[in-house]
Amino acid sequence: MRLEKKHYNNYLNFDKGFTGECGIDEQTEQLGPNCLVLNDLQLEIRLAPFQIDTLLIGSNKIVLLEIKNFEGVHQWGERKLTKESGLSLENPTLQVLKTQTRLEFLLENLDCQMRVEAYVVFINPEFTLFNAPNDAGYILPSQIPDFFRTIQKQLTKPNAEQHKLANTLVNLHDPDYPCKMPEYSFDQLRKGITCPKCGTLAETFKGHFQICANCGQRMNVKRSIKASIEEFRILFPAEKMITSRMLEWCGSGDKACVYRVLKEEYQAIGKNSGRYYV
Ligand SMILES: [Zn+2]
Repeated sequence: MRLEKKHYNNYLNFDKGFTGECGIDEQTEQLGPNCLVLNDLQLEIRLAPFQIDTLLIGSNKIVLLEIKNFEGVHQWGERKLTKESGLSLENPTLQVLKTQTRLEFLLENLDCQMRVEAYVVFINPEFTLFNAPNDAGYILPSQIPDFFRTIQKQLTKPNAEQHKLANTLVNLHDPDYPCKMPEYSFDQLRKGITCPKCGTLAETFKGHFQICANCGQRMNVKRSIKASIEEFRILFPAEKMITSRMLEWCGSGDKACVYRVLKEEYQAIGKNSGRYYV
Protein backbone atom coordinates (compact mmCIF):
# COMPACT_ATOMS: atom_id res chain seq x y z
CA MET A 1 0.00 0.00 0.00
CA ARG A 2 1.04 3.61 -0.29
CA LEU A 3 2.38 4.88 3.02
CA GLU A 4 1.40 8.27 4.35
CA LYS A 5 4.29 10.71 4.28
CA LYS A 6 5.02 10.54 8.02
CA HIS A 7 5.05 6.74 7.94
CA TYR A 8 7.21 6.70 4.84
CA ASN A 9 9.75 9.02 6.49
CA ASN A 10 9.66 6.87 9.59
CA TYR A 11 10.32 3.81 7.44
CA LEU A 12 13.29 5.53 5.76
CA ASN A 13 14.66 6.39 9.21
CA PHE A 14 14.32 2.81 10.42
CA ASP A 15 15.96 1.54 7.27
CA LYS A 16 18.86 3.94 7.68
CA GLY A 17 19.21 3.11 11.34
CA PHE A 18 19.22 -0.59 10.58
CA THR A 19 21.94 -0.22 7.94
CA GLY A 20 24.00 1.77 10.43
CA GLU A 21 23.63 -0.83 13.15
CA CYS A 22 24.69 -3.56 10.73
CA GLY A 23 27.86 -1.57 10.02
CA ILE A 24 28.65 -1.45 13.74
CA ASP A 25 28.01 -5.18 14.12
CA GLU A 26 30.98 -5.77 11.82
CA GLN A 27 33.17 -3.81 14.24
CA THR A 28 31.88 -5.37 17.44
CA GLU A 29 32.24 -8.88 16.05
CA GLN A 30 35.99 -8.30 16.02
CA LEU A 31 36.19 -7.31 19.68
CA GLY A 32 36.89 -10.85 20.75
CA PRO A 33 36.59 -12.43 24.20
CA ASN A 34 37.18 -9.28 26.24
CA CYS A 35 33.61 -8.18 26.09
CA LEU A 36 30.02 -9.27 25.78
CA VAL A 37 28.05 -7.56 23.04
CA LEU A 38 24.31 -6.97 23.31
CA ASN A 39 22.42 -5.40 20.43
CA ASP A 40 19.04 -3.73 20.17
CA LEU A 41 17.67 -3.98 23.67
CA GLN A 42 14.28 -2.57 24.55
CA LEU A 43 14.21 -2.03 28.31
CA GLU A 44 12.19 -0.18 30.90
CA ILE A 45 12.85 1.39 34.28
CA ARG A 46 10.27 3.04 36.53
CA LEU A 47 7.82 2.75 33.62
CA ALA A 48 10.15 4.77 31.37
CA PRO A 49 11.12 2.82 28.25
CA PHE A 50 14.54 3.07 26.68
CA GLN A 51 16.26 1.47 23.74
CA ILE A 52 19.92 0.53 23.51
CA ASP A 53 21.59 0.09 20.11
CA THR A 54 24.75 -1.62 21.37
CA LEU A 55 26.08 -2.47 24.80
CA LEU A 56 29.63 -3.71 25.39
CA ILE A 57 30.19 -5.33 28.76
CA GLY A 58 33.64 -6.02 30.16
CA SER A 59 34.46 -6.77 33.79
CA ASN A 60 35.74 -3.23 34.36
CA LYS A 61 33.09 -1.15 32.64
CA ILE A 62 30.05 -1.02 30.39
CA VAL A 63 30.13 0.92 27.13
CA LEU A 64 26.84 2.16 25.68
CA LEU A 65 26.76 3.03 21.99
CA GLU A 66 24.06 5.04 20.28
CA ILE A 67 24.42 4.53 16.54
CA LYS A 68 23.47 7.30 14.13
CA ASN A 69 23.45 7.07 10.36
CA PHE A 70 23.15 10.82 9.73
CA GLU A 71 24.39 12.00 6.37
CA GLY A 72 25.72 15.36 5.19
CA VAL A 73 27.25 18.46 6.77
CA HIS A 74 25.87 19.45 10.16
CA GLN A 75 26.47 22.32 12.55
CA TRP A 76 26.53 21.36 16.19
CA GLY A 77 24.12 23.02 18.59
CA GLU A 78 23.44 22.12 22.21
CA ARG A 79 19.94 20.91 21.45
CA LYS A 80 19.99 20.46 17.67
CA LEU A 81 22.28 19.52 14.84
CA THR A 82 21.45 21.66 11.83
CA LYS A 83 22.06 20.82 8.21
CA GLU A 84 23.05 23.31 5.54
CA SER A 85 19.53 23.05 4.15
CA GLY A 86 18.20 24.34 7.46
CA LEU A 87 16.79 20.98 8.49
CA SER A 88 17.40 20.27 12.17
CA LEU A 89 17.69 17.00 14.05
CA GLU A 90 17.63 16.48 17.77
CA ASN A 91 21.16 16.45 19.16
CA PRO A 92 21.68 12.75 19.91
CA THR A 93 23.55 13.66 23.09
CA LEU A 94 20.19 14.42 24.69
CA GLN A 95 18.95 10.96 23.84
CA VAL A 96 22.10 9.13 24.88
CA LEU A 97 22.22 10.94 28.24
CA LYS A 98 18.66 9.89 28.92
CA THR A 99 19.43 6.30 27.91
CA GLN A 100 22.58 6.26 30.06
CA THR A 101 20.68 7.57 33.08
CA ARG A 102 17.93 5.01 32.70
CA LEU A 103 20.43 2.22 32.27
CA GLU A 104 22.23 3.33 35.43
CA PHE A 105 18.94 3.26 37.35
CA LEU A 106 18.27 -0.21 36.04
CA LEU A 107 21.75 -1.41 37.00
CA GLU A 108 21.23 0.05 40.48
CA ASN A 109 18.05 -1.96 40.72
CA LEU A 110 19.99 -5.06 39.75
CA ASP A 111 22.64 -4.31 42.40
CA CYS A 112 25.26 -3.78 39.77
CA GLN A 113 27.76 -1.03 40.51
CA MET A 114 29.52 -0.94 37.17
CA ARG A 115 30.53 2.27 35.49
CA VAL A 116 28.75 3.17 32.25
CA GLU A 117 30.42 5.15 29.46
CA ALA A 118 28.25 6.41 26.62
CA TYR A 119 29.11 7.44 23.09
CA VAL A 120 27.27 8.51 19.99
CA VAL A 121 28.77 6.76 16.97
CA PHE A 122 28.18 8.43 13.61
CA ILE A 123 28.53 5.57 11.20
CA ASN A 124 27.93 7.22 7.83
CA PRO A 125 31.22 8.03 6.01
CA GLU A 126 29.49 11.04 4.44
CA PHE A 127 28.73 12.65 7.79
CA THR A 128 30.51 15.86 8.81
CA LEU A 129 30.00 17.80 12.02
CA PHE A 130 31.28 21.33 12.64
CA ASN A 131 31.76 23.12 15.96
CA ALA A 132 31.14 20.15 18.21
CA PRO A 133 32.93 20.30 21.57
CA ASN A 134 35.71 17.73 21.98
CA ASP A 135 34.16 16.18 25.07
CA ALA A 136 30.73 15.54 23.53
CA GLY A 137 31.28 11.77 23.45
CA TYR A 138 31.01 11.64 19.68
CA ILE A 139 32.79 9.08 17.56
CA LEU A 140 33.02 10.44 14.03
CA PRO A 141 33.31 8.13 11.01
CA SER A 142 37.09 8.50 10.67
CA GLN A 143 37.54 7.69 14.38
CA ILE A 144 35.59 4.44 14.41
CA PRO A 145 38.44 1.96 13.72
CA ASP A 146 40.69 3.51 16.36
CA PHE A 147 37.82 3.77 18.82
CA PHE A 148 37.20 0.04 18.64
CA ARG A 149 40.92 -0.78 18.86
CA THR A 150 41.11 1.32 22.02
CA ILE A 151 37.96 -0.19 23.53
CA GLN A 152 39.35 -3.65 22.87
CA LYS A 153 42.46 -2.81 24.91
CA GLN A 154 40.52 -1.10 27.68
CA LEU A 155 37.92 -3.73 28.39
CA THR A 156 38.85 -6.64 30.59
CA LYS A 157 37.44 -10.11 30.22
CA PRO A 158 33.94 -10.53 31.64
CA ASN A 159 33.51 -12.94 34.53
CA ALA A 160 30.49 -14.92 35.75
CA GLU A 161 28.93 -11.81 37.24
CA GLN A 162 28.88 -9.96 33.90
CA HIS A 163 27.59 -13.04 32.09
CA LYS A 164 24.75 -13.10 34.59
CA LEU A 165 24.09 -9.41 34.06
CA ALA A 166 24.02 -9.87 30.27
CA ASN A 167 21.53 -12.72 30.63
CA THR A 168 19.34 -10.63 32.92
CA LEU A 169 19.31 -7.75 30.44
CA VAL A 170 18.41 -10.07 27.57
CA ASN A 171 15.58 -11.51 29.65
CA LEU A 172 14.30 -8.03 30.44
CA HIS A 173 14.25 -7.16 26.74
CA ASP A 174 10.71 -6.56 25.54
CA PRO A 175 10.37 -7.87 21.96
CA ASP A 176 6.77 -6.67 21.73
CA TYR A 177 7.47 -3.07 22.51
CA PRO A 178 5.00 -1.13 20.36
CA CYS A 179 6.70 0.64 17.52
CA LYS A 180 4.72 3.12 15.52
CA MET A 181 3.56 0.89 12.69
CA PRO A 182 1.03 2.24 10.23
CA GLU A 183 -2.38 0.60 10.36
CA TYR A 184 -3.01 -1.89 7.58
CA SER A 185 -5.54 -4.54 6.65
CA PHE A 186 -5.57 -7.43 4.21
CA ASP A 187 -8.01 -5.68 1.84
CA GLN A 188 -5.90 -2.54 1.76
CA LEU A 189 -2.73 -4.22 0.56
CA ARG A 190 -1.84 -4.95 -3.04
CA LYS A 191 -1.60 -8.66 -3.79
CA GLY A 192 1.09 -10.46 -5.70
CA ILE A 193 4.55 -11.92 -5.46
CA THR A 194 7.66 -9.81 -5.07
CA CYS A 195 10.89 -9.65 -7.02
CA PRO A 196 13.71 -10.81 -4.72
CA LYS A 197 16.03 -8.19 -6.15
CA CYS A 198 14.04 -4.95 -6.23
CA GLY A 199 10.87 -5.78 -4.31
CA THR A 200 8.50 -4.86 -7.13
CA LEU A 201 5.17 -6.63 -6.85
CA ALA A 202 4.17 -8.86 -9.76
CA GLU A 203 0.39 -9.09 -9.67
CA THR A 204 0.26 -12.00 -12.06
CA PHE A 205 2.55 -14.94 -12.65
CA LYS A 206 2.80 -18.12 -14.63
CA GLY A 207 5.33 -20.82 -15.42
CA HIS A 208 8.43 -21.70 -13.43
CA PHE A 209 10.24 -18.45 -14.08
CA GLN A 210 9.29 -14.94 -15.02
CA ILE A 211 11.10 -11.69 -15.60
CA CYS A 212 10.62 -8.76 -13.21
CA ALA A 213 8.96 -5.91 -15.10
CA ASN A 214 10.99 -3.36 -13.19
CA CYS A 215 14.55 -4.66 -12.98
CA GLY A 216 14.66 -7.59 -15.38
CA GLN A 217 15.57 -10.11 -12.69
CA ARG A 218 14.65 -13.71 -13.49
CA MET A 219 12.26 -14.70 -10.72
CA ASN A 220 11.76 -18.25 -9.54
CA VAL A 221 7.97 -18.23 -9.24
CA LYS A 222 7.75 -20.91 -6.56
CA ARG A 223 10.36 -19.21 -4.45
CA SER A 224 8.57 -15.87 -4.79
CA ILE A 225 5.26 -17.45 -3.79
CA LYS A 226 6.91 -18.90 -0.70
CA ALA A 227 8.43 -15.49 0.13
CA SER A 228 5.04 -13.86 -0.32
CA ILE A 229 3.39 -16.36 2.04
CA GLU A 230 6.14 -15.70 4.59
CA GLU A 231 5.41 -11.99 4.32
CA PHE A 232 1.76 -12.72 5.04
CA ARG A 233 2.80 -14.55 8.20
CA ILE A 234 4.83 -11.55 9.35
CA LEU A 235 2.12 -9.03 8.53
CA PHE A 236 -0.77 -11.07 9.95
CA PRO A 237 0.66 -13.32 12.66
CA ALA A 238 -2.76 -13.99 14.17
CA GLU A 239 -4.43 -15.02 10.92
CA LYS A 240 -4.74 -18.55 9.64
CA MET A 241 -3.20 -19.40 6.30
CA ILE A 242 -6.41 -20.56 4.67
CA THR A 243 -5.95 -21.80 1.09
CA SER A 244 -8.33 -19.30 -0.51
CA ARG A 245 -6.74 -16.47 1.44
CA MET A 246 -3.28 -17.45 0.25
CA LEU A 247 -4.47 -17.70 -3.36
CA GLU A 248 -5.79 -14.16 -3.12
CA TRP A 249 -2.67 -12.94 -1.34
CA CYS A 250 -0.35 -14.14 -4.10
CA GLY A 251 -2.26 -12.25 -6.78
CA SER A 252 -3.75 -13.60 -9.97
CA GLY A 253 -1.67 -16.38 -11.33
CA ASP A 254 -1.35 -20.10 -11.65
CA LYS A 255 -3.41 -21.33 -8.68
CA ALA A 256 -1.97 -24.82 -8.94
CA CYS A 257 1.45 -23.43 -8.28
CA VAL A 258 0.33 -21.77 -5.02
CA TYR A 259 -1.34 -25.06 -3.98
CA ARG A 260 1.91 -26.87 -4.67
CA VAL A 261 3.96 -24.47 -2.55
CA LEU A 262 1.50 -24.73 0.33
CA LYS A 263 1.52 -28.51 0.15
CA GLU A 264 5.27 -28.84 -0.10
CA GLU A 265 6.36 -26.22 2.39
CA TYR A 266 3.67 -26.30 5.08
CA GLN A 267 1.56 -28.72 7.00
CA ALA A 268 -2.15 -28.91 6.16
CA ILE A 269 -4.71 -28.92 8.94
CA GLY A 270 -8.43 -29.58 8.44
CA LYS A 271 -10.38 -30.44 5.34
CA ASN A 272 -11.94 -28.82 2.27
CA SER A 273 -12.71 -25.13 2.49
CA GLY A 274 -11.73 -24.97 6.15
CA ARG A 275 -8.26 -26.24 5.44
CA TYR A 276 -5.36 -24.09 6.56
CA TYR A 277 -1.61 -24.45 6.75
CA VAL A 278 0.96 -24.05 9.50
ZN1 LIG B 1 12.88 -6.63 -9.79
